[in-house]
Amino acid sequence: MALRVQKYGGTSVADIEHINHVADRVQKAHDKGDKLVVVLSAMSGVTDSLISLAKQASKRPDKRELDALLATGEQTTAALLAMILKSRGYKAKSFLGFQAGIHTDKTSGKARILDINGQNIQSALNEGNIAVVAGFQGADEDGTITTLGRGGSDTSAVAIASSLKADVCEIFTDVDGVYTTDPRICSSARKINKISYEEMLEMAILGAKVLQIRSVEFAKKYNVPIHVRSAFSEEEGTMVVNESSDMESVIVSGITCDMNEARITLKKVPDQPGVSAKIFTPLAEAEICVDMIIQNTRSGGETDLTFTVPKDDFERAKEISHKVAKNLGAVEILTAEEIAKVSVIGLGMKSHSGVAATMFQALASENINIRLISTSEIRISCIILAKYAELAVRTLHTAFGLDPEK
Ligand code: ADP
Ligand code: ASP
Ligand code: MG
Repeated sequence: MALRVQKYGGTSVADIEHINHVADRVQKAHDKGDKLVVVLSAMSGVTDSLISLAKQASKRPDKRELDALLATGEQTTAALLAMILKSRGYKAKSFLGFQAGIHTDKTSGKARILDINGQNIQSALNEGNIAVVAGFQGADEDGTITTLGRGGSDTSAVAIASSLKADVCEIFTDVDGVYTTDPRICSSARKINKISYEEMLEMAILGAKVLQIRSVEFAKKYNVPIHVRSAFSEEEGTMVVNESSDMESVIVSGITCDMNEARITLKKVPDQPGVSAKIFTPLAEAEICVDMIIQNTRSGGETDLTFTVPKDDFERAKEISHKVAKNLGAVEILTAEEIAKVSVIGLGMKSHSGVAATMFQALASENINIRLISTSEIRISCIILAKYAELAVRTLHTAFGLDPEK
């Protein structure tokens, strides 16, 4: 008998028919004798609709109340699945985040899970129930409802799997695994059978939204095996696990594309010690995560500084940058929202040279200009114009030999 945590995403619970289908799968696993904790997302589109309602109610919705509102999406699906299972004669019980003992910090909208008190779920399982948990939510020390950031149900599932020491955390979604790149952008994308936590983490950070970043961080830290698979077929998906010798030995294992960043350039800032701190400290205080930074050295004691921020934080970052630029006597600010970050990722890069050159040549062959570059041990990222994003992904997929063999 195994303990399985299963998470179903928005498209898998899009309406009653789909939730009934989820119930079929859950029922099948239960009948085999497995203990089950089922974590659900909101119906697809519901979180977006709730955000749009909040924006109609207030220009800048209060963060505490926004979390209270957004958490209702998952409350609905969890209650519905438990209801369906009970009407089929199964023992089932739904839990909101706080009832499942999910304690988070106080960061509304992107709270971190601090710990999980799995007692309620454990007792429900011991009594023979299927535990159904509303994903994406928890509560802080004051009992205030918090949400875990977009895609956060993945993290709920992995965190619960880790706290209950489950045998596996199955992420059921609308694709049948993790692919070499987003299969919706590149028709020659291939399913990967096994991927390391490290590579999966980079892919998530760099824009592959199939798993939320924090869910992979959690899985890596606590060694939770994740199985990403289709909610609509029985096929095996992708195992996300520790690096092992039977993984495909390729230099590049995946390509990602992130359209969620925007670029800000401060022109002619004084080239003196302490200037970068003056620019980036107020951004950090506003909890804006700056990603890429590039500084050009200039003659005449001045320099240009370019950096990227998440699009959601673009307006605030622009306001802050304008203020800082004025204080520093910088000449002007340039901004661009229509950018994309394309990245190539692979553990094999650690021991191979020439990957960057291949990437630049491939982009050049399509006349795609590179605006910013950043690298780490296992990835290279380039900022390009958004309109070339899909072409870039397909070109890189071919250039790194990821297309299926003909
Ligand atoms: P869910 O609602 O089930 O959480 P998401 O929309 O969050 O699903 O994530 C699944 C989507 O991730 C897929 O539909 C796919 O378009 C996208 N995706 C991006 N990159 C990849 C990749 N490398 N492999 C698989 N899916 C990817
Ligand atoms: N419903 C939330 C979202 O749309 C969380 C999730 O689906 O994982 O982001
Ligand atoms: Mg998701």
